[in-house]
Amino acid sequence: MTTKELKERVLQGYSISNEEAGWLAVQPDKEALYEAAHEITQALASKEFDMCSIINAKSGRCPENCKWCAQSSHYKTQADVYDLVDKEECLRHAKHNEEQGVARFSLVTSGRKPSPRHMEKLCEAARHMRRHSSIQLCASLGLLKEEELQALHEAGITRYHCNLETAPSYFPNLCSTHTQEEKLHTLRAARNAGMDICSGGIIGMGETMEQRIEFAFTLRELDVQSIPINLLSPIPGTPLEQQVPLTEEEILTTIALFRFINPTAFLRFAGGRSQLSKEAVKKALHIGINSAIVGDLLTTLGSKVSEDKALIEESGYHFSDSQFDREHLWHPYTSTTNPLPVYKVKRAEGATITLEGGQTLVEGMSSWWCAVHGYNNPVLNKAAEEQLGKMSHVMFGGLTHDPAIELGELLLPLVPPSMQKIFYADSGSVAVEVALKMAVQYWQARSLAAPSQEHLGKKQNFVTIRSGYHGDTWNAMSVCDPVTGMHSLFGSALPVRYFSTRPRSRFDSEWDAEDAMDLLDIVEQHHEELAALILEPIVQGAGGMWFYHPQFLREAARICREYNLLLIFDEIATGFGRTGKMFAWEHAGVEPDIMCIGKALTGGYMTLSAVLTTNEVADTISNHRPGAFMHGPTFMGNPLACAVACASVKLLTSAEYDWQGKVSRIEAQLQKELEPAWDLPLVRDVRVLGAIGVIELIDDVDMAWMQQRFVEEGIWVRPFGKLVYLMPPFIIEPEQLSKLTRGLIKIIGEMR
Ligand SMILES: *Cc1c(COP(=O)(O)O)cnc(C)c1O
Repeated sequence: MTTKELKERVLQGYSISNEEAGWLAVQPDKEALYEAAHEITQALASKEFDMCSIINAKSGRCPENCKWCAQSSHYKTQADVYDLVDKEECLRHAKHNEEQGVARFSLVTSGRKPSPRHMEKLCEAARHMRRHSSIQLCASLGLLKEEELQALHEAGITRYHCNLETAPSYFPNLCSTHTQEEKLHTLRAARNAGMDICSGGIIGMGETMEQRIEFAFTLRELDVQSIPINLLSPIPGTPLEQQVPLTEEEILTTIALFRFINPTAFLRFAGGRSQLSKEAVKKALHIGINSAIVGDLLTTLGSKVSEDKALIEESGYHFSDSQFDREHLWHPYTSTTNPLPVYKVKRAEGATITLEGGQTLVEGMSSWWCAVHGYNNPVLNKAAEEQLGKMSHVMFGGLTHDPAIELGELLLPLVPPSMQKIFYADSGSVAVEVALKMAVQYWQARSLAAPSQEHLGKKQNFVTIRSGYHGDTWNAMSVCDPVTGMHSLFGSALPVRYFSTRPRSRFDSEWDAEDAMDLLDIVEQHHEELAALILEPIVQGAGGMWFYHPQFLREAARICREYNLLLIFDEIATGFGRTGKMFAWEHAGVEPDIMCIGKALTGGYMTLSAVLTTNEVADTISNHRPGAFMHGPTFMGNPLACAVACASVKLLTSAEYDWQGKVSRIEAQLQKELEPAWDLPLVRDVRVLGAIGVIELIDDVDMAWMQQRFVEEGIWVRPFGKLVYLMPPFIIEPEQLSKLTRGLIKIIGEMR
């Protein structure tokens, strides 16, 4: 056994044993132990230093007899005694800490637990702080029951702190008024109430090194990710006043062992660190201290934080540069109380994104299908600048302009020939809303054409295929996959649509006629109330990244014609070359009645979408009451967006650009380089079409972990659910694409 072997074991995700930890503790080469722990910290723990702060909301007069504690009424000490501080005082401290970049703020009270009246006041204080600041709140209020913890959670407290203090085998020597089991009970109850937990203790209270190891393993078993480590400050008047302090070497060894045993946790410097020399503090940071409680004294905190900060940064940690973001900005599909990490981008150029810290990532997402030409493209920049000099926006009601006209002229030759009318909208979801409204208004108009057609006015509902994604607005959401979409959340507020099974025949395999049967059944039964079938042709995007057989589109079109349904193609993701055709309908050769485009329309520069339709649909709507299509967004036809879209479409279709050559080169490379993924144990499927490469896993990925690993590999890839996929900008270089595929396979290989 060597220190290095044990370190490797931890790095591979396994635990060392109690005996091995004991062996490590007695190795004479301390520097080797510290270095090994440092490597574990570097590889597995957060390098973003986490600071929290506390307020002693009530001090002294504690009935418990913990031998180390200044606040116990069993001992005569100099500790302050005061009753619960009021909520304004709490808020003042909270805000001050927030301004200092402290991430979390904890309400701490002495005593076994607060009285019901105090609990109510503490909850009120939490609500007050939550209303007027956004610092994350913790509490440390003693031994509480689940209902009490639930009330705290409801009031806005997201993490509960309760120190186990020391090893289970040693705790009874230090306190007889309560047991460690009661503490464990509280911690479990806090978890049940939906809170994170924070638990550590004090070292140097006479326990042995074996007991410190036992303590570290107890915390590991509880899966505690925030572990405060206090060094005993012997308090005059307490039974431990004569306790001989640990040597710096004992303290550093303990920290190293805690890191070996709890490799991903925040090891948090808490009380007593002023006993350490500056050198020892530096060493402790190097070994694995990656968080701290930064004191609770309002007056001295400011200078203290900045002093600590310099030291911490010297040790290779950084501080969050996105605290405001975390506290105030909502990101897509995330919690505000427990947000996933975000990475701050400084600039983006070509197929790369450069982070604030200077790290450059190869872009594998095209910012969700959009940035087909990469970033900071001189041609698109110029178009935007030139248009800015003329006008960035004018209303489209009663006015028109060259960018809107020119864009229409550029689009018509690219879309199905029957698409003759263009409605500009703001985003993909809005385009889908517009398309659905068009379909309903079409059948309303038809019903007015003749008394014998009145029944057509009943055609107001929609059918779609499962695993689809059409956007997040109300009606767009209603036609997304009912399982992976948001249907259950919105319940009966959401219109009820018909869903047919998704085609199983793969794009490149045999067609199975069974695939269209479910759709046929539904349409046969419900055509009288169905206005349209909406689907993503060939490639289902965010609903499952699935590529299906073109014959399905032909069958679907036939069914729609036979039963009087309009056919809506959502080409928002598939458009502009992504699947190897300019638009995905070309794979099947069937034309829709209505078509939505968006995403890559402006090359990812601005939000703009369009709905295209036939003269038949447009004329019918226009020739009957109310004589107009009833939609008109404020930013309709935004000239700036249209100008950039013109530049993007011209660039894409220019002969020198050769988008087809680019996409087929990406396709061939993805096919070749993702092939080895088949050999990975957790991979269920690998598929490539055009400039899209998908690895489907057997289980959901841990997004935060995987995202971080990708960033460490220098690539930007955002997985969701079971899907890890690439859709790079068309201008990506082969070496950049190789970096993406290598990174994907490497990180998926690391999953367990
Ligand atoms: C992204 C997407 C949408 C929604 O577009 P937004 O611009 O996000 O509103 C709709 N349909 C498909 C197929 C998409 O990929």
